[in-house]
Amino acid sequence: SARILSGMQPTHDSLHLGNYLGAQVNWVRMQQDFDAFFCVVDQHALTVQPDPADLRARTRVTAAQYLAGGIDPQVSTVFVQSHVPEHSQLAWVLNCITGYGEAARMTQFKDKSAKRGTDGTNVGLFTYPMLMAADILLYDATAVPVGEDQRQHLELTRDLAQRFNARYGDTFVIPQPHIPGETAKIMSLQEPTAKMSKSADNQNGNLMMLDEPKANTKKVKSAVTDTDNAVRYDPEAKPGIANLLRIHSALSGDSVETLVDRYAGENKYGALKTDVAELVVGVQAPFKARVDELLTDPAELDRILAAGAARAREVASVTLRRVYDAVGFVPAA
Ligand code: ATP
Ligand code: MG
Repeated sequence: SARILSGMQPTHDSLHLGNYLGAQVNWVRMQQDFDAFFCVVDQHALTVQPDPADLRARTRVTAAQYLAGGIDPQVSTVFVQSHVPEHSQLAWVLNCITGYGEAARMTQFKDKSAKRGTDGTNVGLFTYPMLMAADILLYDATAVPVGEDQRQHLELTRDLAQRFNARYGDTFVIPQPHIPGETAKIMSLQEPTAKMSKSADNQNGNLMMLDEPKANTKKVKSAVTDTDNAVRYDPEAKPGIANLLRIHSALSGDSVETLVDRYAGENKYGALKTDVAELVVGVQAPFKARVDELLTDPAELDRILAAGAARAREVASVTLRRVYDAVGFVPAA
């Protein structure tokens, strides 16, 4: 069957609700119909220069969250990016067909480097999209389930694949983004015009899957809204309320229109928040309990990751050989 690939960065101990609703829910939905590869992209996370012990712990806990969220390692391939050296090997080749200006136009790079300044920005952050393209192209993925923020990187991946195929002959499958509608961009509760982000400065805006339920309830109740009193769906004028309505809808299955009717009338912000908090905790608390249980047997987790890496290498090594041959590298043996 057709392949999909996706991944998350171990840049935090916990995933947030945006990672869960924007990406993971689709992974779980798609794993039965596709040959699915889910990777913990630890090499990408190195761009934020984490403490080594943190990176190691976060890589395992991120893998545990894949499983806790419903990824079945008997059905899907779950692995760690650095276990499969073909990712960085292909990234180098892709670096060499990417324009400097093309890479410099990536908004994620522009945003992150603007925050850190030239001296605080490492070159890994600049070449990040080419490593991501390698992640995808190595597996001949036809679809890539990600959030809206990754659309531009996927566009670049498609451009690079097409460019390579045109220059060196048919080598790569051209992947399609698979970006969900209403949950593709879950916003920060404190700054509802910015997405929830593991590396955000203000963590109060993030609903973390591994937080204590009480902490998430408190964050929902103090979510930034507006001074108008009516619950309406208006992402432009009322981004905070729109975000809460989308989160509610995604978790309850009720349509946004139904919810707007339900919370119509004066002073219903409190009721909306109470219900959203309850829905979030209803998903997040059992998720956290499953992660805690998986972490009691780290050896089993490492076995799953080793088996996943072996399976991933079977596919990745064949693609890389195709690429090396196409560009004119002399075979090693
Ligand atoms: P970081 O701040 O370290 O980049 P992140 O929160 O952006 O972390 P990633 O690991 O970069 O998370 O992304 C993992 C997946 O989650 C990607 O598919 C991404 O598109 C998706 N995603 C990230 N943030 C959101 C969000 N707020 N809403 C929906 N999807 C999201
Ligand atoms: Mg990100």
